[in-house]
Amino acid sequence: MIGSLRTIPSVRIVGAAVLLAIAWVQAAAAQDFASERRRMVDEITALVRETRAEIGKGGFDERVMAVMARVPRHEFVPADQLGSAYRNRPLPIGHGQTISQPYIVALMTDLARVEPGHKVLEVGTGSGYQAAVMAHLAKAVYTIEIVEPLGLQATQRLRKLGYATVEVRVGDGYYGWVEQAPFDAILVTAAASHVPPPLILQLKPGGRMVIPVGAAFMVQQLMLVEKNLDGTVSTRQILPVAFVPLTGKR
Ligand code: SAM
Repeated sequence: MIGSLRTIPSVRIVGAAVLLAIAWVQAAAAQDFASERRRMVDEITALVRETRAEIGKGGFDERVMAVMARVPRHEFVPADQLGSAYRNRPLPIGHGQTISQPYIVALMTDLARVEPGHKVLEVGTGSGYQAAVMAHLAKAVYTIEIVEPLGLQATQRLRKLGYATVEVRVGDGYYGWVEQAPFDAILVTAAASHVPPPLILQLKPGGRMVIPVGAAFMVQQLMLVEKNLDGTVSTRQILPVAFVPLTGKR
């Protein structure tokens, strides 16, 4: 009896200490991610300056950089990649696929010149990270993923994080999303051997498409495809890149 009377307060103290420790670890983890995100943004800024000659500017749109500083990339990577979530490099997300390098996500978003009223199509949802970034800048984002488990995971993740303006579809993005066309901007986040004609058709006059074009498992060229107001198309090579291939039966 005496023993139990003596242990109850100490159990309470230990319990309180454990709760405090958990709260401290959670706060520290949140804090670390905020500082890691800032470091990631600094690395992107430095890389933009280094690649100024290729991309034709020394800095990205401030709105794009503000979104990069805000979107929690650690929510889009598998648990075993958590420690690398804010490294400026692509990371595996399962099924042989990757979440793109943050600098490339920022570059593609910047090139797309997304405005608040815009409707955007993404081909290659992957983790959903690029779609989340665009959701902060556009009115609506439609994103297509060919690997069903990835598409389903991204749907759940985006819903859990509150991205209500992003719609995910499982299917072959080569053919676009006819029911939602035309789009102000289209981002293709897998390497295509050519610019898919259905995507050109689904781009609005004045719209911009950003797409890596080249052979699979080789270096490709990131291309900016602009549909002029008269319906003609101009293309510009931006930068050599390495994306996973655009797959599908064609
Ligand atoms: N945007 C993604 C993100 O933020 O995590 C990264 C995309 S990852 C580099 C390329 C994705 O394109 C992969 O998930 C792959 O399964 C998908 N993909 C490949 N071919 C596709 C196709 N024909 N239609 C739709 N998605 C495709």
